[in-house]
Amino acid sequence: MNGCPMERDVIRAAANDAWPEALRAHVTTCEDCTAAAEVAPWMRGFADDNVREHPLPDPSVLWLKAQVLRSSATVDRASRPITNLQVGAYIALAAGWALLLKFKWSAIQAWLHGFTPAALVTKAAGATATASIPATMIIALIVLGSLSVMVALHQILAEE
Ligand SMILES: [Zn+2]
Repeated sequence: MNGCPMERDVIRAAANDAWPEALRAHVTTCEDCTAAAEVAPWMRGFADDNVREHPLPDPSVLWLKAQVLRSSATVDRASRPITNLQVGAYIALAAGWALLLKFKWSAIQAWLHGFTPAALVTKAAGATATASIPATMIIALIVLGSLSVMVALHQILAEE
């Protein structure tokens, strides 16, 4: 719109409903400014309506939302690596126990039978040990057992 140079002043005057005498006189003689003066109040009302139709949310709601988003993001950040690590640990432990039980089941059975009262009595009586446990199996049991305890402890600590 390349209208009258005073149009801007006319719009401001109409918006504030404050008309300097010279401007009022000019509007009566200038078509552009007459149109601008007629449109200005409607434009202002339109702008006010827009503000009312899209009210800003309550600041406390915004603040709460920010807190929730921030804390859940923190939880995500903290728990994701732990979860991946734990899944890996569980898989490794399960595989370890499965392998141990599969290949050493007879040895474990013999070892467990060594703790029956009859076996203990036989041992105490000076008989030779009925079951000898290979050192590698004892080490494997200790390693797997302590790893299981560590993972369990880590899980408990991570949940607190
Ligand atoms: Zn004008």
